[in-house]
Amino acid sequence: MIDLEFDKQHIWHPYSSLINPPPVYPIARAEGVRIYLEDGRGLIDGMSSWWSTLHGYNVPELNAAMQNQMEKMSHVMFGGLTHEPAIELCKKLVALTPEPLQKVFLSDSGSVSVEVAIKMALQYWHSQGKPEKSKLLALRNGYHGDTFGAMATCDPVTGMHHLFAKMLPQHLFAPAPTPKFGEPCADSDTAGIQQLIEQNHESLAAVILEPIVQGAGGMRFYSPEYLQRVRALCDQYDVLLIADEIATGFGRTGKLFACEHAEISPDILTLGKTLTGGVLTLAATLCTDKVANGICTGEAGVFMHGPTFMGNPMACAVANANIDLLLKSDWKLRISDIEQQLQNELAPLKNAPGVADVRTLGAIGVVEMQQPVDNKTLQESLIEQGVWLRPFGKLVYTMPPYVISPEELTQLTGAMNRSLSTL
Ligand SMILES: *Cc1c(COP(=O)(O)O)cnc(C)c1O
Repeated sequence: MIDLEFDKQHIWHPYSSLINPPPVYPIARAEGVRIYLEDGRGLIDGMSSWWSTLHGYNVPELNAAMQNQMEKMSHVMFGGLTHEPAIELCKKLVALTPEPLQKVFLSDSGSVSVEVAIKMALQYWHSQGKPEKSKLLALRNGYHGDTFGAMATCDPVTGMHHLFAKMLPQHLFAPAPTPKFGEPCADSDTAGIQQLIEQNHESLAAVILEPIVQGAGGMRFYSPEYLQRVRALCDQYDVLLIADEIATGFGRTGKLFACEHAEISPDILTLGKTLTGGVLTLAATLCTDKVANGICTGEAGVFMHGPTFMGNPMACAVANANIDLLLKSDWKLRISDIEQQLQNELAPLKNAPGVADVRTLGAIGVVEMQQPVDNKTLQESLIEQGVWLRPFGKLVYTMPPYVISPEELTQLTGAMNRSLSTL
């Protein structure tokens, strides 16, 4: 038996209290799109383990890639050494991402890849003789991770910046984008961010944003034209653009990368979550030749970062297998089918009492309630119906694995419909 009492007494879970611990459910194994409770009940994982599991669990191709790599070399330091899995992965990343992105830095988690992106931007401006360009401009409702550098770019209210005020760098925040996905973007929609860039560009290193989908900060989908305009403003005022595709990368929004909706390329790009198909922790930060050359001709002459587990061969090998599996599949069709089905099956909730909005984009379905939901009750009801979701605040949403079958998706949306209309 899993020792839940020990867990309750001693183990932090994400954003949890140890005085009033939230319920945690014991999971014994996972297979396909289901996670299995210790008592044997299977739950369809509508969260893809925090948006990372693309092909489901216990995938033979991913297991084989790890097994093969493990027998050759599970890890080796990346300082002064290199290996095939890392080279193969970086070749793939350079080939798949927008063309100007040519250089890759591998790290262990999404937050660290954001730290790396910020450092790249600062070192770049330092080497250009403009060390005063050291501030970042982020968007309200944005989320970029939990470490200090990343946290300082998260929404100041939901990120509770005041708790850390003495240690956090003070950045600038533009209003969250208002035009929705599919809507045009008018001058007035970018007036706020334009003014901030105009007035502060001399101290601005970069704009950092999540392209098209603001994830953990509100599950909002915004107009590609907004992103185009921000790219143009960055060019006009000589500010770098960091696109955080940790949540959107590898197909989630219907394009391989969300930047493609706007046909723009950032100067720096972060990838994580989906990179290994949810199997091991790995992240990457890509940058252009211009940024890399700037960094390497600067005072330090090197890029000042180097994690112990950088380029872990097991993680790279499974990332390679994950990307191969994705590209071999008809992922575009799968995502558009999932989008259509989510749209159809969540539509009835639009008129349900207490529901403020229902929206879908790619393999993301969001129900926004008027009031914050009672997580515990809702989760219990969903679990009874064989579904795992983790709502936050007013948002009840799903980002299912791409391999979910139409029947399984119907079970998932059915559970959402029943649970939310009886709240
Ligand atoms: C999850 C997430 C991060 C942080 O990644 P971790 O692996 O949790 O450190 C950063 N940016 C975005 C957009 C994310 O969704």
